[in-house]
Amino acid sequence: MILQIQSFISEQLFLTKAMKIVVVGGGISGLSTCYFLGKLARQNNQAIDLTLVEGEKRLGGKITTDVSDGVIIEGGPDSFFTLKSYALDLCKELGLGSELLAANPESRGTYILSRGKLSKLPEGTETGAPTRLIPFLQTDLLSFSGKIRTLMDLAIPKRKESSDESIGSFIGRRFGREFLVKIVEPLYAGIFAGDVYKLSAKAVLPRLVEMESTHGSLIRGMRHAAAVRKNNARFSGKREEAKSSSSTFVTLKGGLLQLAERISSSLGDSSILLNTKVREVSESKSAQGRNQFQVILEGNDGSIEADVVVLSTPAYATSKLLRRLDSAIAFLLDQIQYVSTATVSFAFCKNEVKESIKGHGFLVPRTEGELITGCTWESSKFPGHAPLDVILARCYLGWFDHEEFAQLDDATLVQKVQEFLNRVAGISAQPILTRIYRWNRALPQYTVGHLDRIASLDLLLNNHRGLFLTGAAFHGVGLPDCIHDGHLTAQKVFETAEESEDYFGISE
Ligand SMILES: Cc1cc2nc3c(=O)[nH]c(=O)nc-3n(C[C@H](O)[C@H](O)[C@H](O)COP(=O)(O)OP(=O)(O)OC[C@H]3O[C@@H](n4cnc5c(N)ncnc54)[C@H](O)[C@@H]3O)c2cc1C
Repeated sequence: MILQIQSFISEQLFLTKAMKIVVVGGGISGLSTCYFLGKLARQNNQAIDLTLVEGEKRLGGKITTDVSDGVIIEGGPDSFFTLKSYALDLCKELGLGSELLAANPESRGTYILSRGKLSKLPEGTETGAPTRLIPFLQTDLLSFSGKIRTLMDLAIPKRKESSDESIGSFIGRRFGREFLVKIVEPLYAGIFAGDVYKLSAKAVLPRLVEMESTHGSLIRGMRHAAAVRKNNARFSGKREEAKSSSSTFVTLKGGLLQLAERISSSLGDSSILLNTKVREVSESKSAQGRNQFQVILEGNDGSIEADVVVLSTPAYATSKLLRRLDSAIAFLLDQIQYVSTATVSFAFCKNEVKESIKGHGFLVPRTEGELITGCTWESSKFPGHAPLDVILARCYLGWFDHEEFAQLDDATLVQKVQEFLNRVAGISAQPILTRIYRWNRALPQYTVGHLDRIASLDLLLNNHRGLFLTGAAFHGVGLPDCIHDGHLTAQKVFETAEESEDYFGISE
């Protein structure tokens, strides 16, 4: 019997040809795709030969954490949203549950710069619609008529047409221009830094668009969603994890790079090629009529053959890789514009800062005409990311039409951000630590019609079985969205393999 089993196993090992998969791009999208490919391969008992190719000398892409004297500085993302649970679930699955750190509820609150003065964002408006009446009525951010106009959302009939529209048109229609400019635009600036009159409501605010159609009002829809979430949190598992699940923003105690590192160490036998840039992807047919890909590396690094290629690079980079393979795909990818951005972090000695620091940070509406779009008091939002006697501030720069920071050298940039913090928050102390991260073409813009362009891309990809695209350019820029898309992409790889067994040559 034992002999029979051994011979069956060795026969299977011998006969089964591992599916050769190359994933290009080692940001969170590529890493998640690799993780879920490995997981599904184990579940399906399918052998895969996985290679991850990353152009830089480290994994993580936009995720970059620098730890210096107990100060944790995030250069890119600093936390993730828990309303979509994909990132939270992945952290728990990877054994990082005890590392989760919920945004500090005691110092909660976001401020908005309004005519040079910081005013508190009324509680309940954090997701872009007022859900709590009293704080909303009390805010000095909006005029009386602005508040009345916002509340008219409860009475305005829902839109009949189902075509896409801009965020400016959607929010302007429901809540009026004042709420759009003072609250929604700055809230979404950190995510897209885009033009609200160009960004697509359907692609950027799908939940809100859905709420209008289901509840006839965003306020009613939001209140309903908040009640459901509160209820779910009450019944979820462990205390610390339940706290994280019920907090809107969560990070990891040692910084978000932990997530990238944990995924990469879970990849086991897979090959990870760092410092290796892909130049082009080409396609040919094998004698059996199967698609075969050549992943051609830059310089003299040669090429890698693959049955499946997943590109998780930014849209403009992916377009370059596919230009010769399919110019129509490259054209559609080129329609996805990007905005450059930067973060400047300062650590200050707490006892040298005279003014009190309020809330988790503040946002700067475009109408204020500032270089800086927002600032997070990281040490208040995530205590533990800095020693108790340190204030860690992180400022964001860059709008779609406001990228002049990119022309400034580091010293001038630092000086301007310091002057700004002094003027707005009264911080005149000299920082004990400064870090600058410049992100060229960092934030993809989901402009009106984005979802149609993605649907067209999907159709064109049907002509290239075995070629898949994922990444922040398509179905959401947040870490949870990228992780979810990585998961869906891994599922599609296996579905395609199952559909045409001979295509991947599962047994020969
Ligand atoms: C400043 C900033 C703050 C942010 N804050 C948050 C936040 O707080 N929360 C949140 O959820 N999201 C945040 N985001 C968004 C989120 O970080 C990104 O959308 C996400 O990390 C993108 O992941 P990705 O894997 O799709 O792309 P990337 O991280 O850009 O990874 C793409 C990878 O492809 C590699 N690559 C490119 N070309 C090639 C090539 N030819 N060959 C090989 N490799 C190549 C790159 O080197 C890179 O590693 C922020 C983004 C920025 C810029």
